[in-house]
Amino acid sequence: QIRSQSKSTIFDKILAKQAPADIIYEDDLCMAFNDIHPQAPVHFLVIPKKKIPMLEKASKSDSKILGKLLLVAKELGRSRAPNGFRLVINNGRHSCQSVYYLHIHVIGGRQLKWPPT
Ligand code: 5GP
Repeated sequence: QIRSQSKSTIFDKILAKQAPADIIYEDDLCMAFNDIHPQAPVHFLVIPKKKIPMLEKASKSDSKILGKLLLVAKELGRSRAPNGFRLVINNGRHSCQSVYYLHIHVIGGRQLKWPPT
């Protein structure tokens, strides 16, 4: 495991309330907050409270939290972007993952293009 995947990230600090964030949802398993550089009128991130650096590090024992992340993303996405929204998980260098703390991007509020470029 490379060092950048195990050290503390900005999302660890947001979760610990040691860094500011526009938190829009929190429960016992996860937290959601607005992205600091939104790519659309709606752009927030959903993270697990259990640290998983990237999707490829998730295991069978994470099934419950992975399902929970999708359901929270869906509920918040539905209410904030009722005309549709997109979920993105970047995994690793080629995907441009920049924060090595698993997060689901939820993006919407405008017409999106497919495929993304
Ligand atoms: P990644 O490329 O790793 O999938 O996406 C990381 C996301 O985190 C980016 O969209 C970036 O704008 C967002 N981000 C980075 N630093 C911060 C921060 O300090 N606060 C918030 N709210 N979002 C951040």
